[in-house]
Amino acid sequence: MSVRSGIGYDSHRLAGGRPLVLGGVEVPGAVRGPVGHSDADVLTHAVIDALLGAAGLGDIGLHFPDTDERWRDADSIGLLREVRGFLHGQGWTVLHVDSTVICERPKLGPHRESMRGALSDAIGIRPLDVNVKFTTNEGMGFIGRDEGVAALASATVERA
Ligand code: MG
Repeated sequence: MSVRSGIGYDSHRLAGGRPLVLGGVEVPGAVRGPVGHSDADVLTHAVIDALLGAAGLGDIGLHFPDTDERWRDADSIGLLREVRGFLHGQGWTVLHVDSTVICERPKLGPHRESMRGALSDAIGIRPLDVNVKFTTNEGMGFIGRDEGVAALASATVERA
């Protein structure tokens, strides 16, 4: 049995008039959202990179290049479902995902279970095997100034 882990990181600029989608959940009441080619869901993008990293399958830009019009305004949860298929095709089973969203506002805690539900459903594992954590940057740097949002993730996979 081969067990591997992978890491993922993503960040996007925030701008007014964009929905704040994190882990497949649109956060109500957010006045700013991330700018990007897809829906710019930094949490889902970090999870995708952690899974691809664990399986040795490159990164999100390799599979879904932002120069490709197919991925404009793409639903990132749909991309995560595709990644699940890539891993299964190579014989990998996902054991666990952990993640952290770094965002100054709004408070995200009330949406944790919805994000775990959406991510775990796309990956095909139990919600309790997908952890989502939140922190701020204590007012420092681009996140502290509300100019952007970032996310980190790790994933563990196994193959017989
Ligand atoms: Mg991204």
